[in-house]
Amino acid sequence: MQEKDKFSPRPFDWFAPISSLKGVGSKITEKLTKLQIHCVGDLLLHCPHRYEDRTRLTMIQDLVADQNAVVQGKIIQVKLEGRQKKRAIITIEDSSGVLGLLFFHFHQSLQQRYEVGKIIRCFGQVKISMKGKQIIHPECEIIEENQPMPANLSAVYPTVAGLSQYWLRKMIYRLLKDYTQRYQNQMDNFAQMLTTDIPMLSWLDALNTIHQPLPDANIEQLTQKNHPAYMRLITEELLSHHISLQQLKTSAKARQAIAFQLEESILEDFLSRLSFKLTDAQKRVLSDIRKDMATNAPMLRLVQGDVGSGKTIVAALASLAVIANKKQVAIMAPTEILAEQHLQQFNTWFAPFGYRCELLSSKLKAKAKRSILENITMGLTQIVIGTHALFQDDVEFQELGLVVIDEQHRFGVHQRLSLHAKGNTARTPSFAHQLIMTATPIPRTLAMSHYAHLDISIIDSLPPGRQGIITLTVPQKRQSEIVERMKVVCASGQQAYWVCTLIEESEILECQAAQTRCEELQALLPFRVGLVHGQMDKDQKESVMRDFYQGKISVLVATTVIEVGVNVPNATLMVIENPERLGLAQLHQLRGRVGRGTQASFCVLLYQSLSETAQARLKIMRETCDGFIIAEADLEIRGPGEVLGVKQTGDISFKVADLLRDKALLESLPVWSQKLNALPNSHIERMIQRWGVGAHFAQA
Ligand code: ADP
Ligand code: MG
Repeated sequence: MQEKDKFSPRPFDWFAPISSLKGVGSKITEKLTKLQIHCVGDLLLHCPHRYEDRTRLTMIQDLVADQNAVVQGKIIQVKLEGRQKKRAIITIEDSSGVLGLLFFHFHQSLQQRYEVGKIIRCFGQVKISMKGKQIIHPECEIIEENQPMPANLSAVYPTVAGLSQYWLRKMIYRLLKDYTQRYQNQMDNFAQMLTTDIPMLSWLDALNTIHQPLPDANIEQLTQKNHPAYMRLITEELLSHHISLQQLKTSAKARQAIAFQLEESILEDFLSRLSFKLTDAQKRVLSDIRKDMATNAPMLRLVQGDVGSGKTIVAALASLAVIANKKQVAIMAPTEILAEQHLQQFNTWFAPFGYRCELLSSKLKAKAKRSILENITMGLTQIVIGTHALFQDDVEFQELGLVVIDEQHRFGVHQRLSLHAKGNTARTPSFAHQLIMTATPIPRTLAMSHYAHLDISIIDSLPPGRQGIITLTVPQKRQSEIVERMKVVCASGQQAYWVCTLIEESEILECQAAQTRCEELQALLPFRVGLVHGQMDKDQKESVMRDFYQGKISVLVATTVIEVGVNVPNATLMVIENPERLGLAQLHQLRGRVGRGTQASFCVLLYQSLSETAQARLKIMRETCDGFIIAEADLEIRGPGEVLGVKQTGDISFKVADLLRDKALLESLPVWSQKLNALPNSHIERMIQRWGVGAHFAQA
């Protein structure tokens, strides 16, 4: 059998479902799925987290308490104990002594296998007691008298309950052997192309080294995953993501869009009615956008700009180019309140020119909704603003020219692309331009890996005259001082926010806390205190928000619903309760609600008690208002999944790479992906598929 294997390797299908393997039934499939192992090849990419040296035998007399050891001996006794004979003590002996092997769940099948006289090789932690030397639940194997010792270190894999190391190792080693035999004569062009940039092993050597390193391998490097073997896998995985996003961009760009010219006179007229002048940063970004939109390739641009940097006007000017050319714009906001505020803002800008903006809310009554939808379809409404409701299939535009997505990190790649395709109907074969706006500064590293499909513009300065925000951390027991401070602020005609954060993941509790706080503050302050929270209906919320914009309410108590986008420049004080419950980026967003006017603003982080990490995090908030620094810190503390919100959208997950650990590699991806252009397409496609990336973006 051995000989035959060597010369006629079994066919190896990387993408065959894991259940097609012999010995993998539905139970095991379920467990493997938990480990993100879906196809045969995924098993080969399931990397060990450590290694054990089982290449040398230890004589029984040399066993040391609490150490792991490999022992080999002849079974001299099998003793079953307990009522159901489930417990077993097997005694083995070598030329130097005897050792007890203790099993608590000794099944019948095992009883047949472990018979007196057979030779056993086992591995486990040695215990020494009055009863002598023992190993409890060793991993063991019946062997032939002269069976050689393994030449390689043994891998220890991440696993789940019910899936033994022994099983994983056996399975992976067998597959690896098949795979290696099948492909051993194949050149690794990928490694050849990149190895001068970054030392790496060939694909096969890499897999063999990772799963079965030689005893003299650099184990430290292997466990840290910076060994040249890992470099081969990690670069390929990162490049697969990068290239697939690049392909996504190429195919999206190949689509047909309407070219829009924004006439200078129209722009001038519009700008002259604004109460402010565009900053240089806004002008620069607008010019990027105008260039994009002037071509027949759909724009795919991400505008990054810190809170308060003035993204909304930029979106409005992009919209102007479209509606002045008699096409429509869809603007998508992450929350209902923000959508409402955009509506209000856009109406003040566009209504004087006779353009119609409408809000497509998910809470609309059927009749009202129908009439809005009709207006959209007939082209009577030029700008449609909404939340997720805009995704619904019954929204049919007459001719959609631009999609603006505000605060994009809450949406997934798919959702965004489904909107982009909205412009494409039987009547109108073009695709909409797409403008994505985010206030969450995307750390460079993430931009390289996750946003390679977008062009990026940054609004890197705030409008002039902003005073900056002074941030303080104050313990809850000094709350009364803060309330006094609030009195002073309101007496001078300014306004304040008081934010109650999520309590134990329950929106209802959070709303109750806000309600209570509102009543307390109202009793203490001679000014009007209002309340907004997620459990209120739209009309209630809207009227409170309106009263706050108009200055009729001095203090707005809110849950985190106000996080994004609400704009009241006269508000100069923000108190955030339990700030430790929020991510830094989120705190930064909240804080950005103040400091929007020309007055100095304050943000008070009112904490109950702080762990050391929480202190360190809030210290960052005190020290900087730079969203980029905060985002980098957030990335370090919470990891990319949280920062990008991919937990919600499920866009990206890596098998081997780790964006924090492998940060240094990300910079080189564009250059490396150029080099790989020399590889055949089929090779690249396979590579992308192997890392499970293709499936995510397939529809795009
Ligand atoms: P964000 O980027 O957070 O969405 P907004 O678009 O809401 O910021 O703008 C914040 C505030 O700054 C708004 O009141 C807006 O009218 C104002 N603003 C925008 N651009 C300028 C500018 N160039 N000069 C002065 N104020 C501006
Ligand atoms: Mg905004």
